[in-house]
Amino acid sequence: MAVSQQRTTRESDNIYSKMDWNKLGYDVIPTDYMYIMKSNEDGTFSNGALVPFGTVQIEPHSSVLNYGQGLFEGMKAYRRADGEVQLFRPKENAMRMQVGAERLLMVAPSIEQFVDAVKQVVSANKRWVPPHGKGSLYIRPLLFGSGSVMGLAPAPQCTFLIYTNPICNVYKGRTSPLSLLIHDTIPRAFSGGTGGVKNIGNYSPIFQVTKEAKGKGFSDVLFLDAKEHKYVEEVSSCNAFIVKGNVISTSPTLGTILPGITRNSIIQLARDLGYQVEERKFSVHELLEADEVFCTGTAVGISEVGSATYSNQRVDFNLGANTVTQKLYELITGIQTGLLEDKNGWVVKID
Ligand SMILES: *Cc1c(COP(=O)(O)O)cnc(C)c1O
Repeated sequence: MAVSQQRTTRESDNIYSKMDWNKLGYDVIPTDYMYIMKSNEDGTFSNGALVPFGTVQIEPHSSVLNYGQGLFEGMKAYRRADGEVQLFRPKENAMRMQVGAERLLMVAPSIEQFVDAVKQVVSANKRWVPPHGKGSLYIRPLLFGSGSVMGLAPAPQCTFLIYTNPICNVYKGRTSPLSLLIHDTIPRAFSGGTGGVKNIGNYSPIFQVTKEAKGKGFSDVLFLDAKEHKYVEEVSSCNAFIVKGNVISTSPTLGTILPGITRNSIIQLARDLGYQVEERKFSVHELLEADEVFCTGTAVGISEVGSATYSNQRVDFNLGANTVTQKLYELITGIQTGLLEDKNGWVVKID
């Protein structure tokens, strides 16, 4: 895959010099370098390299353009108060990409190749990791069928590409908690489908309902199961949790729920704090009676949910300083940004 229209160092420096880290939002801000590696005929990957950020050329016959054969990952690099940069559980993303690749009949980089590539691209773009407390460098690894096929078939060649983009802290940047619209007709995933992997094709089918919900003033959509339209699954790009007394519950990852790394970390941290955490199916009615509801994901970290609306009925949840959500938020962001000790060996520093 040839890279055309590479950005020059001067163009990058010019954009960088105009960055106002206090006004960081969720905009497209390409950084200096991206990473590209392609598969060989035997299914292995080699010769990965950093290249200046730019557009890529792609074959019209490629399976990603025609059949949506592609996956993405999402991770972040955080700047510690001492200026150092660190990643959070990058091996988990590498393993998840391998599981997804198997589902979509793609070959994937090894765990070592994935983690090494992420380290390289973050190191090369280190100046774009926002100052401590101002945000993070979002890392987007992609894996897609770049080889040409005629007819419905997996690509003979796959491309692994990583780009990065600085973003703000969603939780701190938002002035109000999430207000969710619970959709009871359109599901996000179905049994036997690809909801359990970060298949690129999972996301555009929900643009319509999320846009409609946002148009009505909601922040996002909470989806229910496809069969009975009764059990809580997740939000468009984050996992959902409910809190009732000392019990924290989240839906099990049995194929329709994306196994979030933040989800997994929160389950562990909450258990360490003495909460009873249950991975089990629970109905929308149980959610409406919860004390607290929160969402987890790399992009949002932990987001407190202020209200949920189901069949035109709105229910409000506990918010603020003394909630379980707040406690878990402080714990996980503290570990991710280096303010708190990482007792689980989750953090990986960048040289
Ligand atoms: C990526 C994603 C999540 C969150 O996963 P993390 O590993 O915590 O970032 C949750 N749900 C969906 C649908 C996702 O795509």
